[in-house]
Amino acid sequence: MDLDPSSALVLFSGGQDSTTCLAWALSRYQRVETIGFSYGQRHAVEMEVREPVRRAIAGLSVVWANRLGPDRVVSLDVLGSISKSALTADLPMETRPDGLPVTFVPGRNLVFLTFAAIVAYQRGLKHVVAGVCETDFSGYPDCRDDTVKALQVAINLGMEARLVLETPLMWIDKADTWRLAESMGGHALVDLIVEETHTCYLGDRARRHDWGVGCGACDACRLRANGWSRYRA
Ligand code: ZN
Repeated sequence: MDLDPSSALVLFSGGQDSTTCLAWALSRYQRVETIGFSYGQRHAVEMEVREPVRRAIAGLSVVWANRLGPDRVVSLDVLGSISKSALTADLPMETRPDGLPVTFVPGRNLVFLTFAAIVAYQRGLKHVVAGVCETDFSGYPDCRDDTVKALQVAINLGMEARLVLETPLMWIDKADTWRLAESMGGHALVDLIVEETHTCYLGDRARRHDWGVGCGACDACRLRANGWSRYRA
């Protein structure tokens, strides 16, 4: 399988991290496509902001607009049906006895990256870009660098391919994620991320803060708000 070395598939959820990754990919590769997954997540509003965010990001730069290719949404409802997590069920947001957040869906990112790799392979896209990060606390073991590297090896062995799993946010914190966005797209991109992206686990689009919309209390909101205040400091 010939993979185009200047192409990428971005795992794009419509949140801050994956939007920053989309800009990162558009800054580097000639041909960039996006993929999203629906799996019965509570914060399904995330899926609704994807297309407006894509349109807005294409509106920031003619170069980016020309590079941005098609989007697809893959249904993984089966993931919601076999896992019990606060991301897919109406459970209280708290920490589990083993220290993992209740939002943990075991293996979710393994599944996402594998499905993305299947699509990338068939589309001839060499790089698969994901906004996973092990610097800020999320506690998701499948977001860790070793996990992603191991999966890259398994995928390439299993598909006889040379796909590259890219994780531009792996070693930076949330304040640096805002700085990275500013370095690529200036304040216009930062403003776009504040206004258009969605991060809140509870899907709250009613409460407006200087860092964007969200409940302000869930883990995702607190990480985003905390990173924003350090970025603006
Ligand atoms: Zn929230």
